[in-house]
Amino acid sequence: MEKQTNGKARTNDEEKIQESHEAQANMWKFVFGFTELAVIKCAIELGIADFLEKNQEPISLNQLSVALGCCSSSLYRILRFLINRGIFKETSTKSGKSGYVQTPLSRLLIKEGENSMAAFLLFESSPVMLASWHNLSARISSKDNSLSSFEAAHGKDVWKYAEADPKHSNLLNNAMACDARIAISAIIDDCPEIFKGVNTIVDVGGGDGTTLRLLVEAFPWINGINFDLPHVASVAPHAIGVVHVGDDMFNYVPKADAAFLMWVLHDWSDEECIQILTKCREAIPQDNGKVKILEAIIGEKEENIIRGSNNKKLKDVGLMLDMVMMAHTSNGKERTTKEWAYVLNEAGFNRHTISHINVVQSVIQAYPSRFLPCSETNLKCKLCWFIFKWVLHDWSDEECIQILTKCREAIPQDNGKVIILEAIVGEKEESIIRGSNNEKLKDGLMLDMVMMAHTTNGKERTSKEWAYVLNEAGFNRHTISHINAVQSVIQAYPS
Ligand code: SAH
Repeated sequence: MEKQTNGKARTNDEEKIQESHEAQANMWKFVFGFTELAVIKCAIELGIADFLEKNQEPISLNQLSVALGCCSSSLYRILRFLINRGIFKETSTKSGKSGYVQTPLSRLLIKEGENSMAAFLLFESSPVMLASWHNLSARISSKDNSLSSFEAAHGKDVWKYAEADPKHSNLLNNAMACDARIAISAIIDDCPEIFKGVNTIVDVGGGDGTTLRLLVEAFPWINGINFDLPHVASVAPHAIGVVHVGDDMFNYVPKADAAFLMWVLHDWSDEECIQILTKCREAIPQDNGKVKILEAIIGEKEENIIRGSNNKKLKDVGLMLDMVMMAHTSNGKERTTKEWAYVLNEAGFNRHTISHINVVQSVIQAYPSRFLPCSETNLKCKLCWFIFKWVLHDWSDEECIQILTKCREAIPQDNGKVIILEAIVGEKEESIIRGSNNEKLKDGLMLDMVMMAHTTNGKERTSKEWAYVLNEAGFNRHTISHINAVQSVIQAYPS
């Protein structure tokens, strides 16, 4: 018995030691995690993949170092590191000497390659983008999370920085274009049907126009409007079937049959996404227009996955992307299906579908609602007045104060007003509608009984009771006019 216990204790100790060794080994990987990014960047800058691709046979170290003008012993060490990670491979030349060749991974580092990811890596590893990572903890510990990591490093947000630095803007646009080539070829292969019957597409935040160029090449009936900030649109290369338009998507989105947004909405907060999507909804036909969104969809809670991506290997990218948004943008984030449903619904899209394709992004197609949600956001941007007829008498004083407060917040504080059409009953036992111009209508207490029978806490109110709820909801002035109906007109003005 004792022997068994000792045995168990020993096993537990051994397990603990083993775990601790594994933890240390893993931590070393994190400590030096940056070396992979840094060495791959070095390989791209040296042009190793480009040279090996040009020469279709194994290249010796000597040939390679001469061709690239490099110190051969350092180049050897760089290659040894990369080969260890599946980037490049060592094999035999015809004469039996050792030489280097490409692998599928190293082909992605060819600068002008079809599926190249070199530009993306050069952008993410640029000193400008790396600087914001040093301010991540400062952002998290700032009280209201308002200190953007990028702004703390550079004094302006990522878009203003790009506007002021054309070289950096070019790096950014090239990075996005290289991802666009990968994502758009997946859409063309996996769901070409989504472009049937679409004659004009506006690509909102379309960057240098690569997305539309590829879509127009594949679906030549499409007219493309590539829409981005003026400093991006003005230098975008010419592409057949595509016009470039420069403006701010928070102000205006050009009209088209469909609006397309790829890797734009994840740069912004929910409120900002609702504003952008509302502008897109207004730009498309209300009966058959669509908004097509390409974004990653992450899992709920701690699931470290891209929800539903067809490619299992991509499932690890979602939460990394979310960290990138945190470091590089002011309020951007990756979203779960629920979070996407929320912003779409608030922007007036009552239906959307999600399709998963073989890349990091999924395809969300959103359809405008025939009846717009009466959300605070929509009302705020449109209304100066509210008109209420026979609404408030259905509710208790407390509930009326809540409703009226929401209305007050939704209207301009200087010249907005709330117009209420309700009966006004007399004080005490007077069975009248106070002040109605029509003598025959003075029997208001019947209505009060109806409220008692049909609603939970509704009632008809005297002028004093109306003054109370209005005052409590922040309206310090109101007028009452009597008209030839059961209701009087109460006009209330924000304090
Ligand atoms: N959709 C492209 C580029 C995504 S990067 C792609 O996936 O390849 C985000 C883009 O949004 C950038 O090109 C940036 O210039 C643009 N953008 C940022 N703020 C904008 C604004 N207010 N109005 C229009 N475009 C904007």
